[in-house]
Amino acid sequence: LLNTLMKHEKLESVSHFAAAVSHELRNPIQSIKGFIQLMQMYDYSREKQLEFHDTILNEINAAESLIDDYLIYAKPVYGELDRMSANDEVCGVLKILGPYANSKDVELFCHRAEEEVSIGGDRQKFRQAMVNIIRNGVEAMPDGGELNVRIKATTSKIFVEVADSGVGMTKEEVERLGEPYFSNKVKGTGLGMMVTYSVIHQMKGSIIVDSEKGLGTVFKLVFPKLE
Ligand code: ADP
Ligand code: MG
Repeated sequence: LLNTLMKHEKLESVSHFAAAVSHELRNPIQSIKGFIQLMQMYDYSREKQLEFHDTILNEINAAESLIDDYLIYAKPVYGELDRMSANDEVCGVLKILGPYANSKDVELFCHRAEEEVSIGGDRQKFRQAMVNIIRNGVEAMPDGGELNVRIKATTSKIFVEVADSGVGMTKEEVERLGEPYFSNKVKGTGLGMMVTYSVIHQMKGSIIVDSEKGLGTVFKLVFPKLE
């Protein structure tokens, strides 16, 4: 694969997760409020009302996507260090995303490492980071396909590879991954990868992305192995 990039960090810290998401949610909420107030004040035609309903629904969907990318698993306490089984944790996320992938005709496969190895990090943030990568992989295969996740261990490192055979990315697109609001999707937030990069960085891990336009993408995560 041609477009390779190693990334360490895009965002220094995610201690401001909660502040960021409330800020982002303000826009769709303001807009929903505005349209509802308008409809209360005036007698609009049925047609006009339905138009407003569409706009409101779109704003609700935007708010939902934000919540999905930021904190499906959020909890009030941040920065805890959990000892996690790499196999169980990663394959567990795949299980959670099964119904979603199924609805998009994508099959998910989890290949566990032979030995039981542990990684350290905040469990819920790690799940969020994995969900964001895997969901992007599924979304990259509009006609369905296979997504393979492989966990491997060496003496000091743990590798988690997420491989799709989707639309792939150009070198420029790979370089922009993790940049806030970078999205090529009609309804994208452009925030999922930003969250992922900062979480992996917090775990002292790194991300290598191999991608080729039209062929697919491999996200390779590298973590220190816990004793
Ligand atoms: P969003 O998914 O809301 O667009 P993300 O931060 O999750 O935002 O991803 C940013 C962009 O990176 C996507 O819009 C897409 O263009 C690209 N991208 C991420 N993962 C993949 C992938 N597996 N295959 C192809 N493109 C990807
Ligand atoms: Mg995404």
